[in-house]
Amino acid sequence: MIRLRSAIGGLPVYVAGKPAPRLVEAPSFKLSSNENPFPPLPGVIEATMAAVARMNRYPDITNAELTSALSSRLGVPGEQLAFGTGSVAVLYHLLQAACEAGDEVIFAWRSFEAYPIATPVTGATQVPVPLGPGAVHDLDAMRRAVTPATKAIMLCTPNNPTGPALQHQPVIDFIDSLPDHIMIVLDEAYVEFVTDPEGLRGLEAMIGRPNVVVLRTFSKAYGLAGFRVGYCVADPAVAAAVRAVSLPFGVSVAAQAAVIASLDAEALLFDRVAELIKARDALAVGLRDLGFEVPDSQANFVWLPAGPDTEAYAAAFARAGVAVRPYASGGDWDGLRITVGDPAANARVLEVAAALAAPAAN
Ligand SMILES: *Cc1c(COP(=O)(O)O)cnc(C)c1O
Repeated sequence: MIRLRSAIGGLPVYVAGKPAPRLVEAPSFKLSSNENPFPPLPGVIEATMAAVARMNRYPDITNAELTSALSSRLGVPGEQLAFGTGSVAVLYHLLQAACEAGDEVIFAWRSFEAYPIATPVTGATQVPVPLGPGAVHDLDAMRRAVTPATKAIMLCTPNNPTGPALQHQPVIDFIDSLPDHIMIVLDEAYVEFVTDPEGLRGLEAMIGRPNVVVLRTFSKAYGLAGFRVGYCVADPAVAAAVRAVSLPFGVSVAAQAAVIASLDAEALLFDRVAELIKARDALAVGLRDLGFEVPDSQANFVWLPAGPDTEAYAAAFARAGVAVRPYASGGDWDGLRITVGDPAANARVLEVAAALAAPAAN
């Protein structure tokens, strides 16, 4: 009998968002995975189809075109970039490169569900720190959780699944109060949706702080979730370490082409993002008007606190044709994460929420 590592048996399962429920009488909606509801941008399908014709060849292992396109887009040297099959993969590689048994990794909780999986895989110990009021990272508590064994701290901004973004100056003060051998990972998967002028500016936070790493993805705003491309911006030595531990040829021929074409189509892409931001704010206001305590969202989803009613609420949404993402662990932060969808989807969400807010009227 093969003896697997003990850490593997205890890993939580990554729960994928459910597909849209099937309704016979009306369209249904998948609002469970923070995907972009828009179809691919003009030119992206064409560029991808052209790349598909090269599927007999391995992709460029260095992601050279991708690196050069993103390097000029972000204004950072290519040696500071490393790519992977989604930023979740890059996160695994970062932790794999930095952590081993005996190390500790601090993150807020509730936050992104990949953290409690990626951390124990390295042998390191996870140190979850409860969110503070307003579903915001409690940076003081996180600082108090630092020990000589702390190897990395994850800051998820905006926080998945609750929505608020971290503020720039408090994060800078937090980082500067810590020893600089601790890797600070700024997970900016939703950065394109941030409208708060005081929100964290990850790339700026990296300046003069080589222990800070920014993690980003093409899955959300860029609408390429199915192609799996993410990246980090890091000190050249850290980026090189991520490349060293990465699976070779991870980012496929088609995915590389799709990302490059999407970067070329950014003007329209950001129009779409602006539309989603407007819809997000309207959804949050609509839910608050119904009496729900929805935290500020700077991402493409809203958080509906539901406590012990979480599963019942999710079932009510499903009956109305809406798949949402329930988080029901019996803890303080149980509720539903609802992705901002197209106008019909968002209207349906408010209808269901109205019925939930006024059960007697049903
Ligand atoms: C979606 C998401 C990611 C990235 O997902 P990939 O599809 O693997 O790029 C990373 N962090 C957070 C917080 C996310 O919500």
